[in-house]
Formats: sequence, structure tokens, C-alpha cells
Amino acid sequence: MLISATTKLYYQNPYWRECTATVLHQVTDEFQKNWVAFDQTIFYPTGGGQPHDTGYIGQQKVLDVEEREGVIWHQIDSPLVSDVKQIQMRMDWERRLDHMQQHAGQHILSAAFAEEYRAITISFHLGQETCTIDLDMKELTDEMAKEVEAYANQIVLENRDITARFVNEEELEKYPLRKKPTVEEDIRLVIIPDFDYNPCGGTHPNRTGEVGPILILQWEKHKGHIRLEFTVGKRTVERIHSKHALLRQVSRLLQTNEAGLQEAVLRLQAEQSAIANELLQVKEELLSYESVELLRKAEPLPDRMFITQLYEERPLPELQKLAQLITNQATNAIVLLLTGGTKQQFVCACGKEAHIEMNTWVKRILPRVEGKGGGNILIAQGGAASTYSLEQIHTYAREELHALLEK
Ligand SMILES: [Zn+2]
Repeated sequence: MLISATTKLYYQNPYWRECTATVLHQVTDEFQKNWVAFDQTIFYPTGGGQPHDTGYIGQQKVLDVEEREGVIWHQIDSPLVSDVKQIQMRMDWERRLDHMQQHAGQHILSAAFAEEYRAITISFHLGQETCTIDLDMKELTDEMAKEVEAYANQIVLENRDITARFVNEEELEKYPLRKKPTVEEDIRLVIIPDFDYNPCGGTHPNRTGEVGPILILQWEKHKGHIRLEFTVGKRTVERIHSKHALLRQVSRLLQTNEAGLQEAVLRLQAEQSAIANELLQVKEELLSYESVELLRKAEPLPDRMFITQLYEERPLPELQKLAQLITNQATNAIVLLLTGGTKQQFVCACGKEAHIEMNTWVKRILPRVEGKGGGNILIAQGGAASTYSLEQIHTYAREELHALLEK
């Protein structure tokens, strides 16, 4: 199929939002997508980091635009009637203007990084919400970023001309390019005089003032480079609006104004840690009362006492603490505490005068409950397979204790 190259009206005037075009060819691909080519178009195809335009061709929605061998193909949501020749194109200007702002903003920011820190831009991504560039530099400080951002915004405020022209290789030599063009033919330079000469196929506004505010959001190290995230133009303004709305909301919640936010958060953190400390103390006091209560219910054994209790669900560290509180008070005590919940677990502890090895006891229980565990002479713990009830584990543990004591 031979189709002549499409006249790219977006290069003649990037501000044209409407035009009439002649249908040259219409195809349906293997994915049932409808593609149309015309003699000319205002729709920019995906390329050079800039996403494609959208809009309408006649009544059909434009879903995608691609360039193949000089021909611009438009994917539309349903086929055009077969005898249509001339058709009206209408572009989604909001989307295009946004892309022009992001793309031209990227040129300015990249040039500012190159000027200030000789940091070359390796790649550019124009995302749905923010843009990123990868910079050939190892380190970027807050001060450096601030300086480059200020420089870039100065170029915007100076409202300099942005021009684009196609040059041949010979002419190309005259321009101070930072990066070699990726194409050999139809080299197009986007120029901000005395600032930036950039081989680029994208659409750009006529003056830097139309780009609007450039805002660096954050950066991170990425594969030995710096990946920098930023917004330009209307996106920057919208971002600042939403940040302010959030700040107002948080200020209201903390019953302060923006200036008082930091102090309010610090106060909250201090209060929270004081409460946490208090809670810890109260919990320890409660455990100590609980240990006294359990000691009162101790079963007598020859020369020793046995204390045991089953709980529906308690954290193991809490039971370990409780067991130790008991054995500190009664040096001849043997303690067995069990808990259910997500896991069946148990703690065995004894006082210094109990003369029995807790790790040995646990080792005898574990095979009977298909469990795992361990510990030392004075305290040991284990977990049982979920098929065993706490009562079963309790019974086995008692049996093993008596067997140990009778030795
Ligand atoms: Zn570009």
C-alpha cells in the first residue's frame, strides 16, 4: 500500500485546533481497530516523549495517533462512511496545550540543568499527572534544585521566543547542541535563542511565557542517575491548589493555622508517646496484680506449687512477663500458661528453687502436639499444631510434668 506522507499541520502552526482533511485510506487491523490516513492533519502522533492528541474526526472519536513511514494514522472508535472524502478534524485543545506546556517546560528545565551543572537529560517521560527526566548527575541537593528551578522560571518569565525549524546536517553544525539528534534526516530544532538548541519533534508554544510555572516535586537516585519529578503550567497551579486544600483540612483537624502545623504535630507526637508510656506502666501494674491473683489459686505439689491458666487470646510476650512475675514472687512455683487465637501457644516457667528444667518439659510436650519451641531452664515456650485444642495441650503438659517430677 503506497500512501503519500501526511502534511503535518501541527508543525506549520501548533495552535490550529480545527481543519478540513481529505480521506486517503481507511483500514481495520487484526485487533478490529479502525485506522484512517488523510492528506493532512492537526493531530500529533505519539513520539519524542510526547503523547498523541485526541479529539474528533467528523463524529468519530480519535483514540490513538501513530506515525508510520511519514504517514499519520488515526485510530477512530468506528469506521467512517465509505464515500466520505472531506472531513472536519477537531482537537482536544486542553490536552494538547497541557502537553505543550509539559514538553516545553522540560526543554527549559533540562537546559537549566545543563547550564548550571552540566547535567545532560538522558530521558523524558510525560506522565498523566507528573513528568520525569533522568539527569546524568550523581548528586542533587535541595539548594541545587532550587537554583535550577529559579533559573528555569526566570526563562519563563522573560517570555522568550520559542522557534522550530528543519535543518540539514551542514546547518546543524552552526548550532551549539548539547546532544546529537537521534535522526539523520528532517532534523528539527526547537530553539530558545541564546539558551537552548534542542533536536525535537514535539509541539511547543511560541513563547516561554505560555509554559507557565515549573515546579520540581522530588527526585531519587535511579540506575546511577537522578530521576527528577516535576510539573509545568496548569498542572503546577492545580497541584498547589490541592496541596493548599489538604493543608487547610489538616489545619482544621489540628485546630491551628498553617504556620502552627509543625508545632501542633510535634505536640501530638509528644502527647502520644507520654500516653504510650503511661499505658505501658498501667499494663505492668495490672500484670503484677494478676500474678498475685494467680498465685492465690496455686495447686500445692510436694515442695513446690503449680499455677496454670488458659486464655482465649493473649500475646505470648505478655504471658512470658506474667509467668516471670509469678516465679519472682514464688521461687518454688511452676507455671504453665496457654493461649489460643491465631496460634495455640504456651509458656512454661519456674522459680530458682523449683529444681526442674523448663526446656526439658517443653521438649517432652512438643512431639505430642506436633509443635515447635524451646527455651532455657527457667523459661521455655512452644506452639502447637492447630488440630490440638488448648485443653488437650494442657492435659499433655500436666502428664509430662508429673512424669518429670516422679523421676
Ligand atoms: Zn523535545
